[in-house]
Amino acid sequence: MAVHLVQHPIVQDALSSLRNKSTSPSHFRRLTHRLSLIVAMDATRKLPMTLARVETPLELAQGEVLDGDVVVVPVLRAGLGMVDAVLELLPHARVGHIGLERDEQTAVASRYYVRLPAGIGHSTALIVDPMLATGGSALAAIDVLRRAGAKDVRLLCIIAAPEGVAAVEAGHPGLPIFTAAVDRQLDARKFILPGLGDFGDRLYGTT
Ligand code: URA
Repeated sequence: MAVHLVQHPIVQDALSSLRNKSTSPSHFRRLTHRLSLIVAMDATRKLPMTLARVETPLELAQGEVLDGDVVVVPVLRAGLGMVDAVLELLPHARVGHIGLERDEQTAVASRYYVRLPAGIGHSTALIVDPMLATGGSALAAIDVLRRAGAKDVRLLCIIAAPEGVAAVEAGHPGLPIFTAAVDRQLDARKFILPGLGDFGDRLYGTT
């Protein structure tokens, strides 16, 4: 299975508040940051490392340091809420942006903006998109990165629907998906149930 369900009491607690319709945008942003940190910790469990010798105040120690380029790619606009958490863990990561707009009627994602760092063929690409619903946006984002040459692509979400997981697995078998929850299903408007509503609207107070 390519789905990594991130399980932790802090995750469950934060998710409950995130889902709550009374949660304010400012608290929603804080919770998103907290959840993104934990999901990103899991998603970066395997990263290229190299040996390093460090001088402690007492003697030389053998250590390991991160050795490899990481590119964080938020899917606009909701994915922006997850970027700072990833950069907190990986301050040297580069950031690309993919703008996808979901048609309210058809739920089909169309691309309106793409800006990626150069040479991502040898990078670890972390797509951040909090709601994996139909999988349309995720598939479009993966497609953009694959065409740019990215080989190590990982998808970081906060809530996934079984339909979205199945779509990504069908299109890109084995591509790792890291999520804090897999919810029940999509509704007729392709919103995740029980979900939390429109993530971008709740993040930015545009409801
Ligand atoms: N995007 C959202 O913001 N919420 C959903 O439930 C599905 C897609």
